[in-house]
Amino acid sequence: MNGEDVRRLCIEAAKIADQVNADIREDIAPSSNCDCDDAAATSEYHACEGCAMITLCKNRSTDSLARFVCTTCKARDVPNQHINRRGGTLTEELARSSVSRSFSSECRTHGLEPKSSELQEALTLVIEDVFAQLLPGATTRYRDSYTGFIHYISQELGLIGNNPSRTRFIPQRLSVDATLPIGDPAHHSLKHAPGNLVITSCAVNFAKYTNLPDAPHCVAASRYPFIYLLGIPC
Ligand SMILES: [Zn+2]
Ligand SMILES: [Zn+2]
Repeated sequence: MNGEDVRRLCIEAAKIADQVNADIREDIAPSSNCDCDDAAATSEYHACEGCAMITLCKNRSTDSLARFVCTTCKARDVPNQHINRRGGTLTEELARSSVSRSFSSECRTHGLEPKSSELQEALTLVIEDVFAQLLPGATTRYRDSYTGFIHYISQELGLIGNNPSRTRFIPQRLSVDATLPIGDPAHHSLKHAPGNLVITSCAVNFAKYTNLPDAPHCVAASRYPFIYLLGIPC
C-alpha cells in the first residue's frame, strides 16, 4: 500500500478488521500463516510480527513464540539462540527455560545456591521429569495438563508491533507449574521437584498462581470471562 491514498488504506484496514471480528465471532483461532505459494512468497510482503517492519514473505521465519518474523528479530530471539547452541526442540527449550528460571528463583528464596553442584544435579532431574511430559516427537505442540488442550505453538499469533517492554507473553505459551505449593524435604523442600511439576500454558499458570490445582476450576465455575475463555472445565 506504499504511496496509496490514505483513505484507501483505511478502507482496506476496515475490511480486514471486519474479517478478524467475524473470525472472533466464529471462534476461529488467529493464525500467523499466509496463503502465499512459492512464487508469491518471493514478491509478497507482510508485516514482521515482532517489529512490524515490512518483510518479504520468503525472508520470514518462525521465532520461539511461533510468530513469523524478519531476520533481525529472529537473530535476537533468545530461545532460538539457545537451540542453535545446544540443540533440542522448541518445546524442550521453552520447558527448560521456564522450570530453570522458577527453580533458581525458589532456591534463592530458600537461601540455597542454585549454581552449586548438588542443586545443579537436582535441576537435571527436574528437567528430565518435565521433558518426560512433553508429547513424544512433537516439537511445536504440547498438552496443557490442567485443560487437556493441545496447543500448537506454530500457529499462535503473538503481539504484533513493537512492544516497548520487550517482554512478550502470549496466553498459550508453554509454562511449567509446581502443582502443590509445598516442597518435599527429600528435594531440599523445593516445590519445583520431580513429581510436583506439570506442563501448562502461561494464562492458566497465571490464573492458578500458587493456589491448589482446583483453584482455576473453581474460578471457571463462576464464569469469569477470562478464565471461561481458557476453556477450563468446571
Ligand atoms: Zn506470504
Ligand atoms: Zn522484525
